[in-house]
Amino acid sequence: MGNDTIPYKIYLSENELPEAWYNVRADMKHKPAPLLNPATHKPMSFDDLRPVFCDELVRQELNDSDAWIPIPQEIREFYRMYRPSPLVRAYCLEKKLGTPAKIYYKFEGNNTSGSHKLNSAIAQAYYAKQQGLRGVTTETGAGQWGTALSMACSYFGLDCQVYMVKVSYEQKPFRREVMRTYGAKVTPSPSESTEVGRKILAEFPGTGGSLGCAISEAVEAATKQDGYRYVLGSVLNQVLLHQTVIGLETMTAMDKYGVKPDIIIGCAGGGSNLGGLISPFMGRKLRGEADYRFIAVEPASCPSLTRGKFVYDFCDTGHVCPLAKMYTLGSEFIPSPNHAGGLRYHGMSSILSQLYDDKLMEARTVEQTEVFRAAQEFARVEGILPAPESSHAIKVALDEAKKCTETGEAKTILFGLTGTGYFDMYAYKAFNDGTMSDYIPTDEDLQRGFAGIPRFDGNTL
Ligand SMILES: *Cc1c(COP(=O)(O)O)cnc(C)c1O
Repeated sequence: MGNDTIPYKIYLSENELPEAWYNVRADMKHKPAPLLNPATHKPMSFDDLRPVFCDELVRQELNDSDAWIPIPQEIREFYRMYRPSPLVRAYCLEKKLGTPAKIYYKFEGNNTSGSHKLNSAIAQAYYAKQQGLRGVTTETGAGQWGTALSMACSYFGLDCQVYMVKVSYEQKPFRREVMRTYGAKVTPSPSESTEVGRKILAEFPGTGGSLGCAISEAVEAATKQDGYRYVLGSVLNQVLLHQTVIGLETMTAMDKYGVKPDIIIGCAGGGSNLGGLISPFMGRKLRGEADYRFIAVEPASCPSLTRGKFVYDFCDTGHVCPLAKMYTLGSEFIPSPNHAGGLRYHGMSSILSQLYDDKLMEARTVEQTEVFRAAQEFARVEGILPAPESSHAIKVALDEAKKCTETGEAKTILFGLTGTGYFDMYAYKAFNDGTMSDYIPTDEDLQRGFAGIPRFDGNTL
């Protein structure tokens, strides 16, 4: 494809794998607010968090000062099995769009779990093993995180207990079987096996569950079994930290070819892939070395950044977790039942929330039918069948590239292609059948979620 010297795929060598994760908090002038104890409203200390999370992960969670955290050798060895991941120049897409824009995407779907989530799963399993634990518990919604964690746990010989949102457990039996193949125990949530699960079932019999509810069960299960800790696949500072391997590889690859992205786009559920992709670039921006536009893309049906409140809120439905300051729709907010595209968590990473509040990052919402249209357009020229979550970023990348077609500007657009969509065929079927619909919550819908946000001194809505 002619005049550019950039290859279709920029692969780094294994030796170019990052040796340390980059902690963007070290360069942030306004640090993300600390987690609070829900009873006393005091910041959670190392000792407060130890019963729930592995020690080393608590240290990472609380570390606002070290810019670089070395990646242990054993984690780098695991990364070598599927990393560095390719940075793709979307020549075919550019040609199809007739745009002067230069489009790049970092593809994280080249592993069995099908997404970026393995980058943090392997780190969390490693630290659990180092601490001599027997196993970990977690929640999973669509199943990507549970799959990644079950792979990571089997690698280190750890027990893995997954609470899977009941509707997904029933609708995605194949995800469940992948997890079981890797040795995980999968329980539909809410379940009778925890106190909080029994309480939720008594209050809402027949409920299909939610992520917030599965988190509560997983935390309870971890704290009630000897030698277990809870691990989470997004939202937390530590998860975002592990995902910076995405951004660091991307930056190395782009620097090597002298390419500077003008716009960096990612989908935002809990914020870990987006945070991981943008962190090193954001670091340059924060230090005044370069400037970029960052765009977080969220579903119109779950608009935490664009329509949420920036306050302390519960991270889970059962209110067993610490309070986090974040853009939130309220822990009782559940996207409308027609929502098929993932990214359904009610809150957003505290780091990204702070960056957004400081106007260092933009956010945009997109509706799911246009997301699937973008997914289809992308799949037909680039070949990859994208996850619905990733397709939110595709949609905005296409919009920005089309703008360039109109203005004639040759901007460089980078987006995160977080994973593949092979387990989302019911959603694709609805789109292909023309039965997929959109729903944008009304202000009244959102008000119901906001009503569940805790009120206390200093936490004003
Ligand atoms: C989980 C997931 C996301 C969203 O999670 P973040 O923490 O916001 O990155 C995006 N894409 C895929 C494929 C996922 O599995």
